[in-house]
Amino acid sequence: MTDTILCFDIGGTAIRAATATGGAQPGKVVRFPTPAGDRYAFLALVSSIIDDLKQRPAALAISLAGIVNPETGNLVVANIPAIHGTNLKADLEDRTQLPVIIANDADCFAVSEAVYGAGRDHDIVFGVIFGTGVGGGLVSGKRLINRAGGFAGEWGHGPVVPLVVGERSIPHFTCGCGLSGCVDTVAGAPGLQRLHAFLHGEKKSAPAILSAWHAGEARAAETVETCLQLLAGPLAMAINLTGATIVPAGGGLARDHALVAAIDETVRPLTLARPRHRLVVPATSGAEPGLAGAAAIGFQRLGIAAQPA
Ligand SMILES: [Zn+2]
Repeated sequence: MTDTILCFDIGGTAIRAATATGGAQPGKVVRFPTPAGDRYAFLALVSSIIDDLKQRPAALAISLAGIVNPETGNLVVANIPAIHGTNLKADLEDRTQLPVIIANDADCFAVSEAVYGAGRDHDIVFGVIFGTGVGGGLVSGKRLINRAGGFAGEWGHGPVVPLVVGERSIPHFTCGCGLSGCVDTVAGAPGLQRLHAFLHGEKKSAPAILSAWHAGEARAAETVETCLQLLAGPLAMAINLTGATIVPAGGGLARDHALVAAIDETVRPLTLARPRHRLVVPATSGAEPGLAGAAAIGFQRLGIAAQPA
């Protein structure tokens, strides 16, 4: 049997694909526009990518910006109507006659960090995402805690952020998940923008807020500090609950390593263990953690040991 896995990272605008062989991280990445509205075009695209390979892979492993309903197997992936509400695993297995593994993108990120990245030397790895949303994934012994669904580690949702920071009252903003007061509403890129608009009445993108923060601008500094104070308690609690000894951070905002260091410095004293080493750290498993994590989960399913570089 081949030891090659065909990996996909499926997003609302693009599908990225790469093969990974013998436990190593995926190689060259190819990109296709997501056939967002057409299920049959979507399945046909996957088939054509398999047909273009020199050798038939042993399995397909997919990272997806959504979750799998653990009771029905159907996807909840609102920004890709072509596959939302469908059982993609069953459809693809039927069409390709290959085993298909599907995991949430934050879960893939966490596994990628545990196997290939900053969590390599740790047993419990809690990967956190600060991107268009706030998410996470939990890994123990290199394996996902919640293999069906993708709900474990999702610390970004829950009615938990403080209502007062310093002298300021901060409202519980309504979240896309239906609750209000979620970390997701104040700590991803849209959350930072929302917070800045609330505090200063100023419309500014998250990157612009961060660069103003770096330049020492007082309003941006207050926004970032408020964001840190809002997320720190919930994150410290999640760290206590999981026993994670490393918290790799990914997503667009985490490319700002000064922000990741500031998160670490704010959160670490609030944890019960208060480790001396950095707890929240930048991700190190590369530019394609979705593909790498999908590959790692696929290799685990096939019984192939991962080979970190
Ligand atoms: Zn929420």
